[in-house]
Formats: sequence, C-alpha cells, structure tokens
Amino acid sequence: MADRIPLVDYLVLEPEPHLIAHECTSCGARFFDRRNACASCFGMKFRDVAVATTGELRAFTIVSLAAPGIPVPFVAGVIDCDGTSVRGNVINTDPDPDHVHLGMKVRLATQVVGTDSAGTEAIGFGFEPVGK
Ligand SMILES: [Zn+2]
Repeated sequence: MADRIPLVDYLVLEPEPHLIAHECTSCGARFFDRRNACASCFGMKFRDVAVATTGELRAFTIVSLAAPGIPVPFVAGVIDCDGTSVRGNVINTDPDPDHVHLGMKVRLATQVVGTDSAGTEAIGFGFEPVGK
C-alpha cells in the first residue's frame, strides 16, 4: 500500500481520520494554525484536542471560478463541529443548491488530492453529507 501523507498538519489519518485543533488552556478558543498567543484572551498555552468528526454546515459558497487545475464548481463551507468552526469543502455530493443547504449534517471525509512520482498519496479532507 502506498504511503499516505496528510495535506495539512492538523489532519490525522490514524486510527480514524480526524482533525486536531490547538485549544487555549485559558479560554478554550480553538485554532488550526500555530499561534504564539490566543486571539481571544492572549493566553500563551495551548493543548491539542481532537475535533468532532461530524457537524453542521453553517455557511457555504459554491465556487465556480478557481485557479487552473482546480475542478469547479466546488462547495467551500464552514462547518460547526460540536462547537469548533472548521473551514472545509463539502464533497461527495453534487455542488448545487439542491444538494447543499445550511444546517445539513456532514461528517469528515478524506480524499486523495495528489500522488507523487514515488506513489505517495497526499490526503486532504472535506465534509460529506451524512446519510448518503
Ligand atoms: Zn484564550
């Protein structure tokens, strides 16, 4: 089996795919990028926490123009994962308003976004509708 490398460092593939956030130990704010200080309370201590893999679509945009090589249309969304706001694409569904709507239940899903010459797969994530 080919090696699999997460596309972003907050995506963990094993044992089950999930996202890791840095949580401020003072106020509980969560961030996916590395920070030296919390944007909410300026606390400087963080711990890694696993983010819920299911959530609700809170906002989305159907993107029909993108850089060359990026298939369009796709759905860029913001998902509320049990209180943690996550940016991600809605995948594994038709990218149109008949299939994507605010408040829909989604779950984390991974997809191969590229393969290098050695066969190593880059794994990205998105959110797919629950109950497909
Ligand atoms: Zn804080």
